[in-house]
Amino acid sequence: TTFEESNLDPLLMSNIMLARYKSPTPVQKYSIPIGAAGRDLMACAQTGSGKTGGFLFPILHYAFQTGPPAIPPTTGGSMYRSPKAFPIALILAPTRELASQINDECRKFSYRAWTRPCVVYGGADIGQQIRQLDRGCDVLIATPGRLVDLLERGRVSLAAVHFFVLDEADRMLDMGFEPQIRRIVEGEDMPDVHNRQTLMFSATFPREIQMLARDFLKDYVFLTV
Ligand code: AMP
Repeated sequence: TTFEESNLDPLLMSNIMLARYKSPTPVQKYSIPIGAAGRDLMACAQTGSGKTGGFLFPILHYAFQTGPPAIPPTTGGSMYRSPKAFPIALILAPTRELASQINDECRKFSYRAWTRPCVVYGGADIGQQIRQLDRGCDVLIATPGRLVDLLERGRVSLAAVHFFVLDEADRMLDMGFEPQIRRIVEGEDMPDVHNRQTLMFSATFPREIQMLARDFLKDYVFLTV
C-alpha cells in the first residue's frame, strides 16, 4: 500500500513526501483510514512501529481540511483576562522525551500549515511553557501532571478538543498517572466521549488498559500489529 491510497490532504501528503516516508508502516496502514473516518481506536503497537504517524496523520489531515477555527484558537489579548490556549488536539504521553519527539514530528508535518504544535512537560520552567502557549497552540502534547497544573492555572481550555490521544497508555499507568489522566478526561472542560475522537495506543493490553478503553472510547476499532 501507499500513502496516496489513503487520500490524505495534499499539504499533508507533500510533507510526508518531504520526510521521505515511502509507504505506511503496518500500524499506519490501518490507523490512518480508521482515524480519518472519524472512528475511535484502541491500537496495540510498540515504539518504533510508526504509531506517532498513526495518530498525527489523521489529526493533521482533519486540521488541514477544515482549516483554522473562525474564532482564533487562542483568545485573550484582552486586558482583563489572561490568554488561554484552545487546542483542537490533545496528545498525552508519559515522558518528556516521548512528548518532545511527538512535538518534533508534529512540527515537521505541520510545515507551511496553520497548525501550531506545543509541548509541555514537568520538570521544566512552567513560565516559559505558558508564554509558548500564549503565542498560540492548536495541537497540545503534554505529560499528564504538567497539564493538570496548567488547567488549574487556567492557561489551557480543552473545550475545543476534537482529537484526544493517549500514547503509551500502559506506561502512563505504570508511572502512576491514572488519577491525573482521569482528572483531565473527566474535567468539565473536556468534550465527552461522543463529542471528541479518541485514539489510544498501548504496547500491552492488560485489564487496567481495557478499563480505560471502556471508559474513554466509544464503539472503537481494536487494532493489534
Ligand atoms: P514511532 O514508532 O512513531 O516512534 O516511529 C519510529 C521511527 O520510524 C521514527 O523515526 C519515524 O520518523 C519513522 N517512521 C514512521 N513512519 C514511517 C514511514 N511510514 N516510513 C518511514 N519512516 C517512518
